[in-house]
Amino acid sequence: MSGVFCRRDVTEGLHRGPETAWARLHELLPGSRIVCLNQVHSDRIIRVEEVDDGSFPEADGVISEDPAVVLCIRTADCVPVLLWTDDSPVIAAVHAGWRGLAGGILPKAVRLMGGCGARKIHVSMGPSIGPCCYAVGPEVLHALRAEPDRRHAGRNFVDLHRIARDQALAAGIARERIHQVQSCTCCNHASFFSYRRDGESTGRNISVIGGRSCSLPGLPAR
Ligand SMILES: [Zn+2]
Repeated sequence: MSGVFCRRDVTEGLHRGPETAWARLHELLPGSRIVCLNQVHSDRIIRVEEVDDGSFPEADGVISEDPAVVLCIRTADCVPVLLWTDDSPVIAAVHAGWRGLAGGILPKAVRLMGGCGARKIHVSMGPSIGPCCYAVGPEVLHALRAEPDRRHAGRNFVDLHRIARDQALAAGIARERIHQVQSCTCCNHASFFSYRRDGESTGRNISVIGGRSCSLPGLPAR
């Protein structure tokens, strides 16, 4: 089990909210149960059993013990994280921007998966804004307890992938089961939407795990 980080050939025309992503995935994966979230930059992770079909609960992570369910995360610079295991059917998808990372949503997902019996957990982080483009203010640095990656004098650049990787390691994930699909959303206009580059009205990138999502075009999660 692994997932896919979709590019604009799948995501072109999607709106900001979850509805159009849900509808497009139904077109691409007919007959599947698909869960999309109303993401709010929280640390809330919901179980699929708590989600009514066709509803979009407020949460930034979703976990399923049934790998036939398709889990979708939408991003436009934040880090999409897909999780699966070698030893159990449990899967999860997480929206990890700076607020989510500061709130510990990634180690929380690992703990919840562990509670479902998962041990050999794989964590795959998808395309997000890179340290080349992610200049932040002091409040973000403080919240993340991050050292700035200084590429330009006087500005603080942050590497969200590095922070997410370090959090995964601290949560007990083995280094060889941490996968990073690094492509800067802000630099790669042809493939990805970027809030930093295009503003609030930009589209959303989608990352998907579960069911037949591996048949979707895009960057494999490992
Ligand atoms: Zn960049």
